[in-house]
Amino acid sequence: MNALEAEGLNTYYGKSHILHGVGLTVREGEIVTLLGRNGAGKTTTLRSLVGLTPARQGTVRIFGAVTTHWPPYRVAASGVGFVPEGRRIFANLTVEENLMVPRERPGPWTIPRIYELFPGLAARKANKGRQLSGGEQEMLAIARALMLNPKLLLLDEPSLGLAPLIVQDVFKVVVAMRDEGMSVLLVEQNVRAAVD
Ligand code: ATP
Repeated sequence: MNALEAEGLNTYYGKSHILHGVGLTVREGEIVTLLGRNGAGKTTTLRSLVGLTPARQGTVRIFGAVTTHWPPYRVAASGVGFVPEGRRIFANLTVEENLMVPRERPGPWTIPRIYELFPGLAARKANKGRQLSGGEQEMLAIARALMLNPKLLLLDEPSLGLAPLIVQDVFKVVVAMRDEGMSVLLVEQNVRAAVD
């Protein structure tokens, strides 16, 4: 079964027609990367996939269910994790408190398992979000999405603003999650980071 299928998405902000018939497929257990320059509509595509800016025409199917007009909380509850651009972690909460924010969805990912995959976060679990480096913040944003135990994870430009070595660490984590059976849609402007 496909994790995600989008067909003919047409999305608008008011009268601005942003997506013109976008389609893509992510098969189960696969990492698919969506590349494009700044302003091409990558973020809008993700927003349409998770219901934040629903498409006016076209269809989104997630694990076979037509979700095009589902509200975002329902898409999330069906097993879709979303890591928006800019990380949006809670600056005044500790690492561990950030991880406790999502509604729990039963599954293999628990705080101890997350600390195994992200030893850097384990070492800083009592630190506030604002004390973390950019790379640690990105790891925390991904780790927090994992707490929902998603079957499909959507990542918006996780490499943005990170040093190349840290970008490699982030992508290693993405590959490790894929190896656990997760399907991933990754948006990147940084072609080198995406193909390396
Ligand atoms: P970036 O790399 O900057 O995130 P992107 O490929 O993700 O770029 P989008 O953010 O999807 O591109 O933006 C696509 C187009 O939609 C751009 O022309 C942008 O100006 C426009 N746009 C984005 N958000 C809004 C909004 N809330 N209202 C109106 N237009 C918007």
